[in-house]
Amino acid sequence: MNSVDRNFAPALDLDDRLADAITWEHGGRLWPSGEQQTLTCCRVIDETHDVRSFEFRTEDGLPVRFEPGQFMTISANVRGQSVERCYTISSAPTRPFLLSITVKRVPGGTVSNWLHDNMKPGSTLRAYGPSGAFTPTAAPATKSLYLSAGSGVTPLMSMTRASIDLGLDRDIVFIHSARTPADIVFRDELARLAKLSPRLRVYFVCEGIGDEAHWNAPTGRLSLQLLSQWAPDYLEREVFTCGPAGYMSAVRTLLLEGGHNPARYHQESFDIGAGVAAEPEAAPAASDTFTVRLSRSSKSFTMNASQTVLSAAKKAGVAVASSCSQGVCGTCKTRVLEGTVDMKHNGGIRDREVQKGFRLLCCSRPTSDLVLEL
Ligand SMILES: Cc1cc2nc3c(=O)[nH]c(=O)nc-3n(C[C@H](O)[C@H](O)[C@H](O)COP(=O)(O)OP(=O)(O)OC[C@H]3O[C@@H](n4cnc5c(N)ncnc54)[C@H](O)[C@@H]3O)c2cc1C
Repeated sequence: MNSVDRNFAPALDLDDRLADAITWEHGGRLWPSGEQQTLTCCRVIDETHDVRSFEFRTEDGLPVRFEPGQFMTISANVRGQSVERCYTISSAPTRPFLLSITVKRVPGGTVSNWLHDNMKPGSTLRAYGPSGAFTPTAAPATKSLYLSAGSGVTPLMSMTRASIDLGLDRDIVFIHSARTPADIVFRDELARLAKLSPRLRVYFVCEGIGDEAHWNAPTGRLSLQLLSQWAPDYLEREVFTCGPAGYMSAVRTLLLEGGHNPARYHQESFDIGAGVAAEPEAAPAASDTFTVRLSRSSKSFTMNASQTVLSAAKKAGVAVASSCSQGVCGTCKTRVLEGTVDMKHNGGIRDREVQKGFRLLCCSRPTSDLVLEL
């Protein structure tokens, strides 16, 4: 589980190098956020009894650029209906020819079960370009603390794989919580990576031992005591956390209690409903009716100012890829070519994208007639 002591050439400008590698013109092409591609499944890997990784290549076989920790939105045709869900790209951008997602079966869940039951080598699905700001390039640091639980391991795995592939030798303490040892996703690979890199330390904590009678790591939940034991310098570390809402809230409390600076805390939630209030529809004013024209299809529809552009487009029969409807996932990002909207997002779009004219249609209401790049 722990690293071996080995000499390793220190890397210069760690985060510059990571950013350079990701934006490197490697003959591939940028996959713009929100742009649709067809992906072909090349491999399915059983990670645990209810978690599988699906590896894909792009239709044109070209490599793809993204940042470690980002997610893509996939569109599945389930019982004749198109359904979109976000999945973190668990592979690293340093291996840009294959994109993988790692999916946990959710009891009663539509897309997770559909993927487990239907996705085989040779199957295809539609996916929308990477989004998300939960990435180490957004918070440069030489010392990191990765805290994950359950399938929340995926973004941190991508970050770790990228860091090792680039020889960054970033100082990482990675603590993963699971129900039982059998539920630890990427258990062998994390142990192997920790052996490769003297500055990656991996620890597991499980609520129970399950069938593994010889489990020799702690049981229970992550505590301040375990944290101080495994990462005594945690106050100096940039913290990245991903897992169920209850886990993240407990981790946050624990870190605050320990005196960690909240400005150095970053988290990704897979539960897009948690903590995000959906924007209520404002009371419509009779006069506030606007026309929306679509530049590519030359279609148009009218809507009132109380509706979001996404809901009006859907009511008008316009197919727009979307997932969360709460300004989080970024799937419905679209360029507004003419006109203005009032957008209240929840982190699903970056300032530089807004400057380029993009808006999230799910949380934008028109304040004039619009022309959309659709
Ligand atoms: C940024 C981001 C990254 C993510 N990355 C990953 C990842 O790497 N790996 C991963 O496994 N997941 C990830 N997720 C979660 C993923 O997007 C899905 O939410 C998850 O797979 C469940 O989707 P589903 O379609 O299977 O379940 P859903 O159909 O959405 O159902 C979810 C739950 O709601 C219940 N439910 C559904 N319909 C109803 C109803 N009508 N009434 C009552 N209950 C209902 C279901 O029983 C189930 O328990 C990520 C999410 C986000 C936002």
